[in-house]
Amino acid sequence: MHRDTKLCHYGQAQRPGPANPPVVRASTILHDTVESYKAVKAARESDEYILSYGRRGTTTAHALMQAIADLEGGEGAWLFPSGVAAISATLMAFLRPGDHLLLVDTVFGATRTFCDEVLAPLGITYDLFPSDAVDLSAYVTPKTKLVWVESPGSQTYEVMDLPALTQWARGAGLVTIADNTYASGWLYRPLELGCDVSVVAGTKYLGGHADVMMGAAAAKGEAAAVLRRAVHLTGQTLAPDEAYATLRGIRTLGLRLERHGQNSLALTEWFATRPEVLRVLHPGLQDHPGHALWQRDGQGDNGLLTVVFKPGFDTTAYLNALQLFGIGSSWGGFESLAMPIEPERTRASLQGLPEEAPMVRFHAGLEHADDLIADLSAGFESLS
Ligand SMILES: *Cc1c(COP(=O)(O)O)cnc(C)c1O
Repeated sequence: MHRDTKLCHYGQAQRPGPANPPVVRASTILHDTVESYKAVKAARESDEYILSYGRRGTTTAHALMQAIADLEGGEGAWLFPSGVAAISATLMAFLRPGDHLLLVDTVFGATRTFCDEVLAPLGITYDLFPSDAVDLSAYVTPKTKLVWVESPGSQTYEVMDLPALTQWARGAGLVTIADNTYASGWLYRPLELGCDVSVVAGTKYLGGHADVMMGAAAAKGEAAAVLRRAVHLTGQTLAPDEAYATLRGIRTLGLRLERHGQNSLALTEWFATRPEVLRVLHPGLQDHPGHALWQRDGQGDNGLLTVVFKPGFDTTAYLNALQLFGIGSSWGGFESLAMPIEPERTRASLQGLPEEAPMVRFHAGLEHADDLIADLSAGFESLS
């Protein structure tokens, strides 16, 4: 069955029945007999989707867990109250005091901050590696346990050669975990490319309507058992209403990403013709360094693009002049956004860009591309 078809049928119960799994709110699940209570407690150790207690999810969350596991090609998927919660809980699941990990240098900022401020005091240290490295021998220590990847990278979209990197990591006995928020289980499948765990901030495209906070982590093999145990021990859970809203968003994931990708490419090509612009970063662009890898391993683009303006360009005045682009954090909703960004200039991929060239990350929403381009064009005219 095609993946698009599955999106429309995830979580459907027996017929006659509702088209969507309803919001089931519960902490306590009642039993008539002690035997029944004990049987469910025993059964839940091997069946993740049995109704036993609210923290383990009700039927609403179970439907979403199965949908995300299927999207990512995992043996299971677990839910968290935000993307950052999924990241922190996953890191904690696989690391112990004294361990060392490797982070790609294009990693999402909050992931690195978590390592600095929570893991470092526990004696867990990290080193950064460039996104084009596939053999990390130069970076490992005897204490290295884990490699954290993100492809395309946050804000600058470097594409990693995950099949080659994960092959090396398996040989070195290291667990590989991907932050797959860019592709959200639809455009790219890290578990199929050799990763053990794939984390997604569902706040972005899974929810898709700028009204949900949630995270998920899908896993396969031994990693799935480790993650599952950690989720249960630390009490990670997602409220039923949020699970419902996320599953509703997933119904249109493929359709939305198709339009987001078309719009971001249209904006990218248009920006590239502007005299104010030094460079546009987008993995779908022919001259993007990761384009060939993305063509090989990915299946389309999302709505993100980053524009590097010429030094001296007034990005504040420009963004303030835009009407259709809201200014704000996050992305992945239906609407277009713009935000000034300052990625760490230590990223290997940014070497060679003038230090003073201002950068703006745009998210192309689901509006008509002609209207977005007209708005961006009027913004330039208002400056002159
Ligand atoms: C937004 C984002 C997160 C964090 O998600 P929240 O739900 O905001 O906590 C993690 N990773 C990446 C790549 C993101 O873009």
